[in-house]
Amino acid sequence: MRAVYLTGPRVVALRDMPAPEAPPGGLVLDVKACGICGSDLRRWKEGPPEGVEGVIPGHEAAGVVVDVGEGCTHHAAGDLLAIAPDVHCGRCYYCKRGLYNLCDELRFVGIHPEFPGGLAEKLVLTEEVLTNGIVHRMPEGMSFIEGSLAEPSCSVLACHQRAGTGLGDVVVVMGAGPIGCLHIVVARANGASVIISEPSATRRKLAERFGPKAIVDPTSESLASCVREMTGGVGADIVICANPVAQTQTEAVEIVRKRGKVILFGGLPKANPMVTLDSNRIHYGEIEVFGAFSYHPTMHESALDLIHRKVIPADLLVAHTFGLDEIDRAFEIAAKGEALKVVVTT
Ligand SMILES: [Zn+2]
Ligand SMILES: [Zn+2]
Repeated sequence: MRAVYLTGPRVVALRDMPAPEAPPGGLVLDVKACGICGSDLRRWKEGPPEGVEGVIPGHEAAGVVVDVGEGCTHHAAGDLLAIAPDVHCGRCYYCKRGLYNLCDELRFVGIHPEFPGGLAEKLVLTEEVLTNGIVHRMPEGMSFIEGSLAEPSCSVLACHQRAGTGLGDVVVVMGAGPIGCLHIVVARANGASVIISEPSATRRKLAERFGPKAIVDPTSESLASCVREMTGGVGADIVICANPVAQTQTEAVEIVRKRGKVILFGGLPKANPMVTLDSNRIHYGEIEVFGAFSYHPTMHESALDLIHRKVIPADLLVAHTFGLDEIDRAFEIAAKGEALKVVVTT
């Protein structure tokens, strides 16, 4: 089978390797579609972890079961599955409380070398992945590309569940990448209207199709006055920072209303995660500032259902599909930040 190997910063190679066999309790998935995630891009730019020769990236995968190992009773050849990357330990403080996304030993398919990823013709799902990972059957009639979109949708759905986004809310989304666009979709599905702030003209144009109430170019317009105008001077109910820019977190606290919520959805660069927030505004305005990361495994099933029912419009979110042999181009286009979702099909 052919598989994509990341061997250095921006260096990927398509390698031929023996087709895997299903391990006891596990299975082999014939991958049909695998999305390229922001985190895949980050690692593509950085190269594999130190001391590792190469990794097979990719975790937004969907495909068909072709081989089932002994003792794997819940799946059969021909099953159509979609996966997400998280594999929790099942033993730590958080796992015992069902907070699997906060697991102290969280590992990821397509990131940790012991779990090769989905940018390959075949993907092994071990017994551990089937037990403590995130694997769900796709609804009948769903395309593999739709199945691959479930994973990126999950963290967005979980974020709005925690935020309690509801009817009539005004939600500000900072950043109109594929994830920012998903935030527009999910906030609107919850009955909110959305202001999106994005410095890139290309991305602003792409965001239009998801129906935000207002699109702001923060380099030439005032986001704060747009928010004031739309809320009668009160401020936004919810502000989501869906980009890796510290300044937008500071600004979020300025434009949220009293008792409003600021959600730090995108991580900041590891080298400089510090940020200044007006703590008096938070104090006197009883503003909640909290983080949102990953999701409970059940969210993946909800995402599949919402995509199937077209609440999340897969066709609008996927801008480009590439074959495995075009993997360099796939990463380059995704890295340009001008595309919505890039999906590799095999
Ligand atoms: Zn992802
Ligand atoms: Zn754990």
